[in-house]
Amino acid sequence: MKAVDVQTLGCYINGEWTVPDEAKLIEVKNPGDGSVLAYVPRGDKEEIDQAVQAAKTAFLSKEWKELTPYARGQLLNQIAEIIRENKEELARLETLDVGKPLGQSAVDVEIAARYFEYYAGIADKIFGETIPVEPGIIDYTVREPIGVVGHIIPWNYPLQIAARSIAVSIATGNAMVLKPAEDTPLTTLKLAQLMETLGLPKGLLNVVTGYGYEAGAALSSHPDINHITFTGSVETGKRVMESAAKNIVPVTLELGGKSPNIVFADCNEEQALEWVRKSIIQNAGQTCSAGSRLVIDKSIKEDFVSKLVEAMEKLTIGPGMDNPDLGPVLSQKQFERIQEFIDLAKQDGITIATGGERKLIEGCENGYYLKPTIFDNVAADHHLAQEEIFGPVLTVTTFETEEEAIAIANGTPYGLVAGIWTENVGRAHRVANQLQCGQVFINHYGAGGGIAQPFGGYKKSGFGREKGLEALKSYTQLKNVALKYY
Ligand code: NAD
Repeated sequence: MKAVDVQTLGCYINGEWTVPDEAKLIEVKNPGDGSVLAYVPRGDKEEIDQAVQAAKTAFLSKEWKELTPYARGQLLNQIAEIIRENKEELARLETLDVGKPLGQSAVDVEIAARYFEYYAGIADKIFGETIPVEPGIIDYTVREPIGVVGHIIPWNYPLQIAARSIAVSIATGNAMVLKPAEDTPLTTLKLAQLMETLGLPKGLLNVVTGYGYEAGAALSSHPDINHITFTGSVETGKRVMESAAKNIVPVTLELGGKSPNIVFADCNEEQALEWVRKSIIQNAGQTCSAGSRLVIDKSIKEDFVSKLVEAMEKLTIGPGMDNPDLGPVLSQKQFERIQEFIDLAKQDGITIATGGERKLIEGCENGYYLKPTIFDNVAADHHLAQEEIFGPVLTVTTFETEEEAIAIANGTPYGLVAGIWTENVGRAHRVANQLQCGQVFINHYGAGGGIAQPFGGYKKSGFGREKGLEALKSYTQLKNVALKYY
């Protein structure tokens, strides 16, 4: 799909591409240089309503109800295959749209395909239990699809998140409406285009592009959806939950984070340095699970941070298509938000160990590139160590005891992920047990690849779990059946 083709696309509703209304278009920009990549429809209540009705009809259709779980699994495998056949194009499109390095987009495409394969294998293994209540009664549970599920997708990992949403929804037998982020709708539209060729029942998958406050709000407040999954900021998450509550619609919220890497003096220093760096620069720090706080033993801090600074300063920065270590941040708006934190650091006299400024790149003057930044000696309760910055910005806070390390790690409103670095197995598990977060990585941030591991937050990072088998619970409802025999 070239950008020019995207311009001719509308929303995907009821198996058809709507004709874009010229007066209602959103500009989609390349974060690398600010150029316009495409125009997509500014869908609103009307398109959302059409999409929800189409999904409802598809969900209730004989065609969908009679498709066996095995056939749903086969369909998911075909989607994985078609993603792989189009992997270069999808990666290129993701990089153009999000700005991330091409190599990272290629990984995102592979993960997207893997989600489909993972849930393909599960589609015919979703079943209930028999419960031994009393003699003469057969009691069993059935796990049934929930109906029409809405998915509101953020801009940082659009393809991965669209893929995991679609894969689990199909595996569990639901119909869906996706609302991609207004800044980055291109790979979701491309995925719908590819899936269209596989003969999915009409209306089963719908994609409505548009702004959050219009299309997103219309989706989360729609009375005919049966579940909403939202991935994005805490503030928007609250709004989504509020509007869903009015219709008693259950929600899964995947929100932000301020995840610590807790580095003990007995760590494997080489590994810790590598992953502390990688976990904050991936996607230019615009990752909900970014390791954005270094919480480190005071006795090794000076040496560790100076090595980290050295490594950060060697990183390449440039347009995602050149596959550097760091691409641009998404937009001027995101850049200005990060800049406010940098100004705050300066105003409060915080040591900027490296970075803290924009990097201008010739020919890309309208792209917002930021040098990886380390704020040193940040008090655990300072704004910089409490709020999600969502850029390549790391804070450093020291501790003297294990208890203090745990208190600092737990001392933010968030609870998404944490990394622990120690060669002492007992300490690793002792600390892991006390961390208030949904996922703990010991000695490798991101270990396991993510697809099969349940993912979600404690505290303000949200609730409900995506990925792995655990996600099936959000997309199904449980029925109990009891039969008396005589
Ligand atoms: P955002 O909340 O601004 O937008 C997310 C999505 O919600 C977009 O599609 C947007 O259009 C839509 N939206 C905006 N206002 C809405 C409204 N009133 N009603 C319904 N939908 C609305 O967040 P963002 O800036 O796109 O993403 C960044 C945030 O997302 C960060 O805080 C990040 O940590 C979080 N995030 C979390 C995860 C996770 O899995 N936990 C993954 C990625 C991003």
